[in-house]
Amino acid sequence: MTRDFYCDEALSGKTPINKVFESEQVLAFHHTRPFWPVHIVVIPKAHVPSLTDLGGHSIALVHEVLEVVRNIAADIERDHGACRVLTNLGEYQDSKHLHFHVASGDDFGVNIERKERS
Ligand SMILES: [Zn+2]
Repeated sequence: MTRDFYCDEALSGKTPINKVFESEQVLAFHHTRPFWPVHIVVIPKAHVPSLTDLGGHSIALVHEVLEVVRNIAADIERDHGACRVLTNLGEYQDSKHLHFHVASGDDFGVNIERKERS
């Protein structure tokens, strides 16, 4: 598949997504191939390459994304009693568009990035 699932598939509408939150700058949706029972992805709509490479975008945009991560994580923590927040960098990051995984439950035993690539 593509190196940027988010611009090429999710934001373009090519792959249908189940949104949980949307603002002018931020989108959150259920992962299309979840590897945890509860698995939401939060992304900036603008193309930001990663947490350590903002691609010229301001840190204010990252703060906005994180505020959404925080709210969704709080809901999951409240409803499920536990939550994890994760973003990958470098070789660990397959899709080169900043995205935060917000998830709960035991993983399905599949490598996180390999799953994204499929
Ligand atoms: Zn992108």
